[in-house]
Amino acid sequence: MNSPEIRLFPDPVLRRKTERVTVFDAALERLAGRMEAVMRSQRHGIGIAAPQIGVPRSLALVDVSPRVPEAALIVLVNPEIIAQGPHCPNREGCMSLPDYTADLTRFEWVKARWQNLKGHWEERRFTGIEAMCVQHEIDHLRGVLFLDRVTCLKTDMYSRTMKARPRGRKGRQAL
Ligand code: ZN
Repeated sequence: MNSPEIRLFPDPVLRRKTERVTVFDAALERLAGRMEAVMRSQRHGIGIAAPQIGVPRSLALVDVSPRVPEAALIVLVNPEIIAQGPHCPNREGCMSLPDYTADLTRFEWVKARWQNLKGHWEERRFTGIEAMCVQHEIDHLRGVLFLDRVTCLKTDMYSRTMKARPRGRKGRQAL
């Protein structure tokens, strides 16, 4: 079930480059809280970016704990990737394109820096599904969708309702 708050492709807000957050106040915390509630209301929801609820600001949440129990919620304000590893294949879905998953290329690991809700800078290296999720959400903040990274829409994109999916085991995630 999709939350009525989720903006779906081709909503133009998903294509806007977001504005940097400059004020770290209670309103920003409330926005993050709203995003968290929407993310948690989604089956397989492990990430969300503010444009997905119609807010073109540089704020995203990542929480892969449904897949990696030791992981925790990370709130990324004004995030950027500052280093990255080699390319690797990944299969992704997106809450804003709920009917599809696709095979695409990401970086195997990324190092990112961002501000927390208090405005303090943090930095960390991400691997595995968390790295994929961070890249997917930072893309959202630039108006980029996962389908933009698909090499061939005809062969690399799959309908979720399709019965037989090649390598169809990693598609259960909503970001
Ligand atoms: Zn997404």
